[in-house]
Amino acid sequence: MDTELYQEVFRVLFTESKSELFIFSERSLEIVEFNENFSNSFKYDRYENKKLTLMDLIKEFGETHPIMQFVKSGDPTAYLKDVVVLDRHGLRFTMDLQITRLPLENPVFLCKMLYDSDKKETLRLNYEYISSISHELRGPLTNINGTLDILQKNKQENLDSESFSLLGVVQKNLTRMKVLLDNLLLLDIKKKKYSPEVYSPCTPINEAIAFFELSTLEKNLLVNKDIDCSVLLRGDKFEFSQILHNLLSNAIKYTNKGEIKISVFKHSEKIVRLEISDTGVGIPEEFTSSVFNRFFRVSSSVGGVGLGLWIVKELVERMEGTIQMYSTLGVGTTFILDFPLVGYAS
Ligand code: ADP
Repeated sequence: MDTELYQEVFRVLFTESKSELFIFSERSLEIVEFNENFSNSFKYDRYENKKLTLMDLIKEFGETHPIMQFVKSGDPTAYLKDVVVLDRHGLRFTMDLQITRLPLENPVFLCKMLYDSDKKETLRLNYEYISSISHELRGPLTNINGTLDILQKNKQENLDSESFSLLGVVQKNLTRMKVLLDNLLLLDIKKKKYSPEVYSPCTPINEAIAFFELSTLEKNLLVNKDIDCSVLLRGDKFEFSQILHNLLSNAIKYTNKGEIKISVFKHSEKIVRLEISDTGVGIPEEFTSSVFNRFFRVSSSVGGVGLGLWIVKELVERMEGTIQMYSTLGVGTTFILDFPLVGYAS
């Protein structure tokens, strides 16, 4: 077969296949090519600058891993069962790998990934199920919140002070439930429609601060803000609020005394910077690169599910922004978010 035809057959095989496929190089162990199914399932983006290697993809990869044993054996094919594969966010999948050596000048291996189809279906159903339950729960929750607001406004006329403070407890817990539910709704973010508009960050930030007022009051935390309301951002407003909700709820959750500071300013001609810092427990240095992984938690001593920061990162990237975290154990944590400056409010 001539090279062009060979390449065409290969291209069709690669793009039309219903399986996740990737090719890795024997020499560098780099994943040199992968198809769209692979990209969708494991959330790796082919246009990302960072090189993807077997070390990133396969859990506990090393010289003794069955893949390496096969590579060294010189055999033309192998079928490896129950290999643990990690997606970009550290979520694990156990699957079988069918590997074929392609005898080129620099040998590469074609890997076909096979799930037990039941597992794949379960995973898909889980997302759909969680998402529909979250939708269902959100309706009544919004309703209860509205009713509570009315009751609290009636304070002087109808409520004694004990009932009023009990309502505060209910409201604080509703706040926590709302943040969690909204995170669950965003679990399958890639499928969610992105509806960008241009807005000043002022109102969403003020609303987010008001949303957590009771929680900050209860912990006696100061909230300082310094917002340049003239800058404009572009993105989905609900998603921007969720970024704020997740970062603020963490700042409150992981801070026992001191303050939370929120600032927005023009960082350069093209960049708006949002900083949220706290004087809380901090994050150990070794976890700096893991905190944005899905389901990652430093410790389980405080409630949480490890979704908040992963969602924040995904949402920031949808706004074409970047996020960094600086933290000192026992001193506090700062999140720095840079977004494209799209204009100024008139
Ligand atoms: P969780 O639901 O556990 O809070 P997140 O994804 O929001 O999940 O955060 C991941 C982990 O990062 C948390 O478990 C916590 O250990 C750490 N973390 C996040 N924000 C802060 C913060 N402001 N201060 C200290 N630790 C934080």
